[in-house]
Amino acid sequence: MNIAIMGCKEIKDETCIGCQRCLTAFHRREGEFSRYKDQPDARIVAIFHCGGCPATSPVLRMKQLQTWMSPMGERVDVLHLGTCVKNHCAYKDTLVSAVRNKAGVEVIEGSHPYLPKDIFA
Ligand code: SF4
Repeated sequence: MNIAIMGCKEIKDETCIGCQRCLTAFHRREGEFSRYKDQPDARIVAIFHCGGCPATSPVLRMKQLQTWMSPMGERVDVLHLGTCVKNHCAYKDTLVSAVRNKAGVEVIEGSHPYLPKDIFA
């Protein structure tokens, strides 16, 4: 099973240390990834961003990813919207509905479960 994660461009940028949390949660099968506990074949094949505010290009980004992967015989079976998108996207309703309408695969809202509570405590 091939899993892709779409993150928030405002948070993720081009390189993001925060992606470590998605990868750690996936390897530990925690958060929204706990559903893959009994699926050792599940693997993350892509982490990409939404394309930026105001959520006008997540569908284009999905198409770009599919175009990039298909010559290698790879595909996405499940798409997770990152915890950054789920918790912080100001255009979440628009983004989620656009993604759900066009993804053609299961879309899950959320990824890692690690949210800091007391940043300066
Ligand atoms: S549209 Fe939402 S997820 Fe995308 S960059 Fe803007 S706030 Fe982040």
